[in-house]
Parts: sequence; structure tokens; C-alpha cells
Amino acid sequence: MLLKKRKETIELIVLRSLNARMQLSKKEENYYSYLEKGFVGEQRFDGWLETLTNDCLILFGIELEVNNSTIQLDALLIYADTIYIIEVKNYQGDYYIENDRWYTYSKIETKNLLLQLKRSEMLFRLLQDLGFPSSVESFLVFVNPDFYLYQAPFNLPIIFPHQIERFLDRLNKKSAKLKEKHSRLADHLLSLHIEESPYARIPQYSFELLVKGIMCRGCWSIDTKIDDRDLICSSCDFVEDVDSAVLRSVEEFRMLFPDEKLTTNQIHEWCNKPVSKKTIRRMLQTKYKLVGHGKSAGYVSCINEDES
Ligand SMILES: [Zn+2]
Repeated sequence: MLLKKRKETIELIVLRSLNARMQLSKKEENYYSYLEKGFVGEQRFDGWLETLTNDCLILFGIELEVNNSTIQLDALLIYADTIYIIEVKNYQGDYYIENDRWYTYSKIETKNLLLQLKRSEMLFRLLQDLGFPSSVESFLVFVNPDFYLYQAPFNLPIIFPHQIERFLDRLNKKSAKLKEKHSRLADHLLSLHIEESPYARIPQYSFELLVKGIMCRGCWSIDTKIDDRDLICSSCDFVEDVDSAVLRSVEEFRMLFPDEKLTTNQIHEWCNKPVSKKTIRRMLQTKYKLVGHGKSAGYVSCINEDES
């Protein structure tokens, strides 16, 4: 049973929009692309895990603070006898291991992902006083078929792309039933989940300096144009209804500028004047409530965020 779905992190959403609307440095661009690829890989793996039919609890994207350190668990599977910590990587290309160090094919040293996995497992075990009903095991799963790790000893806790199906089969064969204590543990972990501090690695930006317009929902390009009631992307030809594209841009604006007032004028400019102000106002009124009067007036969310 899936208890916690994965959501894009605020960091990824903000960087995606900054990447379209300003010039990121090479380092920022690489980091953004790493996050975007990582999310795609995680989603791919989530899809596979959701096919599990036996008794287990699945939590995606859990972040916990243990002993003043933060651990991010890509997926946590709670079975009657075992808790699996899964770290998902969407790496591409060739890598090799030499003396416990990891290198790219062009001999550039990279993070030893197993150390990171062990650290997460070790910190997670410190939560034992929550009363783990099961033992803990952790695995590093590579989801991209275009990945190869040379010189990897056979007994590492790694699942390579061609082994994923067997790994899932093995999980699916577990027949022990979960008990109340397993649900209690899952609830407790969910209550400990902390929201990241997203703005740590995000470059500085301001409304004035960002390129205005509506991003494409298919490829996140800002190169879009309006044709009658449609927003059409010039990069990937994706077509979206203007109303939904504008409302999506409103959410993007709110994410980037949480302290700014939401007004018709502001959104009219943010979307680069795609339609009349009157139309923008009508769109805003479908989802937001106007509070205040005159110059101090602004829109606020009027429906439950989870339902939006
Ligand atoms: Zn596009």
C-alpha cells in the first residue's frame, strides 16, 4: 500500500523555472539537470514498486532529521520482517570502482554512493527506539539501462537495471502479513518527515530580471505562443489550454515569490500579457479569493491546496 507519494521538491520546481527564465551558471545548470534526471529515475522506479501486490507499506521521498543530520530516503518499504531503504540513481554512462573509490569512465572521481547509502542506513538505525518490528536492509538501485559499473564486487548491495525485475519478484514473494505495529511505525516516520529548506542551493533572482512568459508544460521551455485559446510550445509543439497554462504560471509565481502579493497586474506581466487583464482577473477568480481593497488588494488561495 502506498502511504506517501513522491512530489517534485520545491528546489526542483524553482530551478526548473529559473532555468527557463534566467541564465544559470554552468554549476547551477548541472545541478538542475542532476535533479531533473534524478526525479525522472525515481518516478520510473516508483512505477515499478507500485506494481507490488503483497502486504507492504511504501513511503516515497522521506526526509528525516536524526542526531542533527538529515537523511533523505528515496523509498522506504516496510515488510513484516524487513524494512528496505532504497536509494535510486538515474546515472548514465560508464563508471568504475577502484580501491573503494568511484570514478567516471574519464577517470574523474565521483561520490561513493555506497558510503552515502551506509550513512543513511546507520542514521536510520538510530531511530530504533521507535521500535522497529523488522530488520533493516538497504539497496542502491540504478534504473537507467544505459549505466554500467566496472569492477564492482558481486556482493555489493546494488541492484543493476537488468536485475530490477528479479528484485521485485523477490519482494513480491514475501507473504508475511503486516501488523498494527508496522502501521504505527509508518505513521510515526511520516510524522517525523521534514520539509526541505529549498532555497539553500538556489541562485538569487528577482521579478524584474526574470524573462516573462508562460513555460511549456511538456519541456519547460519559455518559448511559447498563444494561438486563440491554446498555448503552443515552439520547442516541442506541446499544446495546452490557455486557462490552465495561466493558472499553472500563477502557482509558479507563488512558489518563486511567496511573499509577493498576487494581483491581476502582476500575473498579466508575469505571463507576458497573453490575454487581457479582464480575462486574467476572471481566471484568478476561479481559484483565488480577493482580499483587501484598492491598492492593498490581492488574491489568496481559497481552496484546499491538496485539492488544487
Ligand atoms: Zn515544450
